[in-house]
Amino acid sequence: MKLIKNVNVYAPEKLGKKDLLIAGGKICQISDNLDIPENWEVEVIDGEGLIATPGFIDSHVHILGGGGEGGFANRTPEATLSGLTRWGITTVVGCLGTDGYGRDLTALISKIKGLREQGITAYGYTGSYQVPVRTLTGSITQDIMVVDEFIGTGEIAISDHRSSQPTYDEFLRVCADTRIGGILSGKAGIINIHLGDSPRKMDMILRAIEETEIPSTQFLPTHVNRNAALFDQAVEYAKLGGTVDFTGNEDIDYWVTVSDEVRVCDGIKRMLDEGISSDLFTISSDGQGSLPLFSADGQFLGIGMGQSSCLLKEVRECVQRENIPLEIAIKAITANPARVLCLDTKGQIKEGFDADLCIMTEDLNIQTVIAKGQVMVKDGEPVVKGMFE
Ligand code: ZN
Repeated sequence: MKLIKNVNVYAPEKLGKKDLLIAGGKICQISDNLDIPENWEVEVIDGEGLIATPGFIDSHVHILGGGGEGGFANRTPEATLSGLTRWGITTVVGCLGTDGYGRDLTALISKIKGLREQGITAYGYTGSYQVPVRTLTGSITQDIMVVDEFIGTGEIAISDHRSSQPTYDEFLRVCADTRIGGILSGKAGIINIHLGDSPRKMDMILRAIEETEIPSTQFLPTHVNRNAALFDQAVEYAKLGGTVDFTGNEDIDYWVTVSDEVRVCDGIKRMLDEGISSDLFTISSDGQGSLPLFSADGQFLGIGMGQSSCLLKEVRECVQRENIPLEIAIKAITANPARVLCLDTKGQIKEGFDADLCIMTEDLNIQTVIAKGQVMVKDGEPVVKGMFE
């Protein structure tokens, strides 16, 4: 059992100063002043002067590593436990990417199982960039039904020179099969869609919503801020009720100068200013994914790597640069992804929910991270690490 005393709770809504009691990996009680009987064995964590938010959910991480664009030497390394928890991430959704060949679904599931054994919550998407989708059981629907780790399909690439150039009908079949898998298994059945730089933008998604019975809640288009024209369309999509996923950036000052990427805090501010619900945006990291830079004619110029640290960095920018209240900004990496991914006990500080927590200073520096009741980070340093970290 753990008792966090006098901590300022953002659940994500602002609850004020509370005591939080954790037992059996769950949040048991939230109250003003909790008195624990003396004979109870409780670890007390002093939250005075600190804030507590739900643990962060990163819905798009290349946990096996990514890359290989530009050649085999550019393959990026796997995610590590402490590389996630150090930055507040207690739930991660893993995906393949451009390379669904050199890395496959068995390896992805093995990595997910490893992260689970190490103490955090992990899921994944079946498939990769390619359509037809390479699955484990031979069917997208069946993969989602019988493979506990899979909650959807992705990242399916459209509007990108690296995509498999799926036709509209092929794309639609992937969406339908994923939706059925979700319905039959009680999971999200979400289609995580990688959007590239092409002027076709989100056209296929908008057409699917307009022409079929598949609702916008089935889609999680990502990288919506990769260029200004795409983001304009993403804003219109959100006005129709769709949730859009921003890709955070560790070195945002660099990328906004070499591309017309939209700064996450600017994008979220614009959505709020245009009256869009604060439920309709998420931020993910594209962690361990390669960030290749191509010239206008598709020539490979150079490469960087996505990092999970960007989630907190982007939220900090929202608060400190754009004056977006923390209780709104933090939804992008807690309650909103939990809702979209149907993770029913995640993303909120609420009695009965999983005890996934980030305890931070007022200026949003991480002190303590708790995953399913276990302290993973203390005084900003990981105290639980994988065997080879
Ligand atoms: Zn992508």
